[in-house]
Amino acid sequence: MFHDGRSKKVVFIAHCLLNQNSISDGTAVYPAAFRDVIDYFLNADIGIVQMPCPEFCCLGLDRGNIHGIDSPVVVENTRIRSAMKSGSPNEKLERMADYIVQQIIEYKKYGFEIAGMVGANRSPNCGVETTSDNNAEVNGMGLLIEKISHRLLQESIQIPMIGIKGTDNIQEKLQRFMVTER
Ligand code: SF4
Repeated sequence: MFHDGRSKKVVFIAHCLLNQNSISDGTAVYPAAFRDVIDYFLNADIGIVQMPCPEFCCLGLDRGNIHGIDSPVVVENTRIRSAMKSGSPNEKLERMADYIVQQIIEYKKYGFEIAGMVGANRSPNCGVETTSDNNAEVNGMGLLIEKISHRLLQESIQIPMIGIKGTDNIQEKLQRFMVTER
């Protein structure tokens, strides 16, 4: 099946890499998107699956932050992390992780290659190598990536993951990732 024009390769990326307008106040790096990420995968004929933005969906565009851009990023990220762990946001987060893993399972069922998952380092939800906690950027995963990883483990699925930040040399980091992690 699916012997048509498609590459049968997809990558899952954090929502804000393709849509900077979803990110918390004061943290957007680009007007629209991380072009280097999008260009990299399109040039490699890898389809891009944009994961939902958990914070936008659970806390809204302003994340419930009345101080906006005046809040230091890691302090605000720590507040967001704590808000996302509470009842309703946490339940939505669980459903979101299920929905993402369901898509991965469906692609794998038909032999598609999952090239990887690209998160956003320092994010309390989408960080892969670093996240925010205790008012600092710390090693570890964000809440959504943690839940996705847990579910993938339950399904015995391994997917290479990488986190990026605006300060990275993105093309180089993705190139290294695609060569060494797969
Ligand atoms: S890192 Fe994740 S939670 Fe934060 S804006 Fe991007 S998609 Fe949303």
